Amino acid sequence: MSQQRTTAEWRALDAAHHVHPFSDAHSLNRQGARVMTRADGIYLWDSDGNKIIDGMAGLWCVNIGYGRHDMTAAASRQMDELPFYNTFFKTTHPAVVELSALLAKVAPEGFNHVFYTNSGSESVDTMIRMVRRYWDVAGKPSKKTLIGRWNGYHGSTMGGASLGGMDYMHAQGGLPIPDMAHIEQPWWYKFGKDMSRDEFGLLAAGWLEDRILEIGPDNVAAFVGEPIQGAGGVIIPPDTYWPEIERICRKYDVLLVADEVICGFGRTGEWFGQQRFGFRPDIFTAAKGLTSGYLPMGAVFLNEKVAEGLAAGGDFNHGFTYSGHPVAAAVARANILALRDEGIIDRVRHDTGPYMQERWRQVFGQFDHVDDVRGVGLIQAFTLVKDKATRTLFPNWGETGLICRDIFFRNNLIMRACADHMVASPPLVMTRAQIDEMLGVAERCMTEFEETLLRRGLV
Ligand SMILES: *Cc1c(COP(=O)(O)O)cnc(C)c1O
Repeated sequence: MSQQRTTAEWRALDAAHHVHPFSDAHSLNRQGARVMTRADGIYLWDSDGNKIIDGMAGLWCVNIGYGRHDMTAAASRQMDELPFYNTFFKTTHPAVVELSALLAKVAPEGFNHVFYTNSGSESVDTMIRMVRRYWDVAGKPSKKTLIGRWNGYHGSTMGGASLGGMDYMHAQGGLPIPDMAHIEQPWWYKFGKDMSRDEFGLLAAGWLEDRILEIGPDNVAAFVGEPIQGAGGVIIPPDTYWPEIERICRKYDVLLVADEVICGFGRTGEWFGQQRFGFRPDIFTAAKGLTSGYLPMGAVFLNEKVAEGLAAGGDFNHGFTYSGHPVAAAVARANILALRDEGIIDRVRHDTGPYMQERWRQVFGQFDHVDDVRGVGLIQAFTLVKDKATRTLFPNWGETGLICRDIFFRNNLIMRACADHMVASPPLVMTRAQIDEMLGVAERCMTEFEETLLRRGLV
C-alpha cells in the first residue's frame, strides 16, 4: 500500500473523493491533508518521510502504541477461525465470551455485564436508550431527561451530540433531541476565580442539584459526565466534585453515568477515571483505549442494579450487526492483556505519569502566555492566556490555539488545540526519554509561538 503514489497524488485524490470528519472541506482541500503512511511505538511517519511524535495517541486511543504484532496476530488468527458471526439470535462465540470475562475482571468491582458497540458514539446512544428503558421497566416512565454538561463531548450521533455540550454541534442537524439538559462544566480556572479548588468543586456539583430540582427529580433519568472532559480541553474537576455529584444522584434517584471513552483503559494511571476520582457510577461507556484503536469497538458496562433492571423488562430492542464482533473482541483482549501483564498502566501510575506531570509543569510554567498547567496520568493540558496575572483569556477564543497547534505540527509534534487549551494524550508506552524528547520539541515550539503572538500584535 505504502509508496505507490506521490504525496501530491494522494492529496489530489483525497481532495477529490474523501469527505473528512469535523473539517471545512474547501479549506482542507486547498491546503491538502497530511498523509500518514506508517507508525511504530509513539512515532508516525508521513508520506514525505517525516518522523512525527504522536502526542495524541491517534485520537486519544492508541494506548499500547503502534506496531504491536500480538495485536495483528490476534486479528489474523480470529479472521481465519471465525471472521464474523452475530450475537443476536441466541448465539455467542468464544472471542466475545473471553473478552467479557476479562473485562469483568479489570473493571471496577460490581461491573460484571457488558454490551458491545463499534464506537464511543454508539456506546453513548446505547446508554441513552438503556437508561430510559430502565426507568420504563421500573414503572417510572416520566424519568426521561439526561443531564450532560456544556463543553462535554459524547460523540457525533444524534444522541451523543445532543448530550454533549458543544454548541457548534447543536447548531447543525436539528439538535438537541428532546429531553436533554446541560449544566455548566467544573472549569475552575474560568468559573472558580477567588474560590479554592475544593470549594469550587462543591459549587459546580451543586449546579446539578439545582438543575434536577428545576426539571423535577421525577423527570430526570441520569447525569452523564466524562471523569475528565477530554475533547473539551482536558478540564480536570476538583477532587470534591465527583463524590458530591454521586451523593446528589443518589439523593434524587438519578442514574450516574461515566463516559470513560478517553479516561478508560489506563489514561489516568488507573484502569478507569472513576477510580482516580473516587466515585461509583451505575453505567459507564468505553471505546478508544478498549482496542487501542487497532479496530473499532465500544462497550457499555452495567452494574447489577441496571443489568437486572433491564433484564426484568424482557426484550431490549437494540443492537448492532457488529455488536461483539469476533475480530474486534480478539484484538481488544490482546490489548487488555498487554496493558495488564506488561504493567503498562502501573507504570503510568507510578512512574511515567508523575514524571510527565512534573516535567510538563516545569516546561510550560515558564511561558508568559500559558496558565493552568495541569494533568494526571498521561493526559495533560495548558491554557493559552492573554494575561496570566489577571487570568484573562484571549478575546477571540480558539484563534491562538490554532496558531500554536500549527507550529507544533510543523515541528513534527502532534498535540491538539481544543479552542485555546493545548492538550496531549500520548501512547501509554511512552518512556521517560521520550517524554523528554517530546517536551524538548514543545519548548522550542512555545518560544516560536510567543514570538509569533508578538509579531502578529496579539499581545
Ligand atoms: C471520542 C469520544 C466519544 C465518541 O467516540 P467515537 O468513537 O468517536 O464515536 C464519546 N465520548 C467521549 C468522552 C469521547 O472522547
